[in-house]
Amino acid sequence: MKKKIYAYRQVGMALCFVLILCGCQSHQGHQFYVNSRIMMGTIVEVTSPDKRAAGIAFSEIKRIEDLLSKYKEDSEVSRLNKLGKSVVSPETFYILKKSKEFWQLSNGAFDVTVAPLVDLWGFTNRNFTVPADEKIKNILNLVGSDKILLHNNENVIKFKFPGMKIDLGAIAKGYALDCAVKKLKEKGINSCLINAGGQVYCLGKKFGRPWRVAIRGPRGKGVVSFLELADQSVATSGDYEQYFIKNNKRYAHILDPKTGYPADSGIMAVTVIAPDGLTSDTLATAIFVLGKDKGERLAKRFKGVEVKIYAQDSL
Ligand code: AMP
Ligand code: MG
Repeated sequence: MKKKIYAYRQVGMALCFVLILCGCQSHQGHQFYVNSRIMMGTIVEVTSPDKRAAGIAFSEIKRIEDLLSKYKEDSEVSRLNKLGKSVVSPETFYILKKSKEFWQLSNGAFDVTVAPLVDLWGFTNRNFTVPADEKIKNILNLVGSDKILLHNNENVIKFKFPGMKIDLGAIAKGYALDCAVKKLKEKGINSCLINAGGQVYCLGKKFGRPWRVAIRGPRGKGVVSFLELADQSVATSGDYEQYFIKNNKRYAHILDPKTGYPADSGIMAVTVIAPDGLTSDTLATAIFVLGKDKGERLAKRFKGVEVKIYAQDSL
């Protein structure tokens, strides 16, 4: 039975939906530095004319990963997932508050409590499987961000039911990039591009002109468009990043919290441009679940947001 499951994970550069142009070290006589490191389960690449930028960005991204990763045993999120109740740092508390806000705004499409479902489908340990309907129904009782209780004054987070867990995979990278950008600005660096596996932030401009970012088509379809960005973020959620195929059906890693199955809204990929990383990250995931019409309606509620949707039959 296992033999019929074909698993795919396009890691590293292949995973990067966004391809950065001009990877060279010199541009019209200007020097700039490109550094990359594997972090948050992907390749993080930092491009800047300032030599210090990569070190600053990497250490800030690592700090956030150490707090929010469910894969790190001693992170605050892992502790909360294990105990069901925990005092957390103001930052983790803030992210949970934001997650609940997006849950509400997206009418439940964005929901960090999908973690037990992510485990059930095998996306956590890459032991992919199509679970029995019964199992999915049982786990759905543990899903719903209204079941996360936030006690403001003591930074206490509590789960309503044992067995609940959270997965911040759809918000942490965006937030980490925002934190890195804040640190860069504090240090007087005003030109930098960070690409964390397709989650991108363009700080300032590149030698006086906006950063130029090429958007690759989903499922290896080549470049589909170019973006010119300055002090903006871009994120993409797609069904080709982590998925498996069984009996000719594709099962991808973004789950519909209402059904417990991989989202099936007709979208192959969605790219969101926003003023900050947290918004682009969360919105891309939510729109992928909601589908084109509801997704575009949601995006209209945010200032400075632009959305590009690639339907399953559009390319
Ligand atoms: P992204 O690639 O930013 O769209 O994030 C996808 C990741 O977020 C998945 O790998 C899961 O860890 C998690 N996730 C899956 N479905 C959802 C959902 N409906 N809401 C929030 N997080 C999700
Ligand atoms: Mg996301």
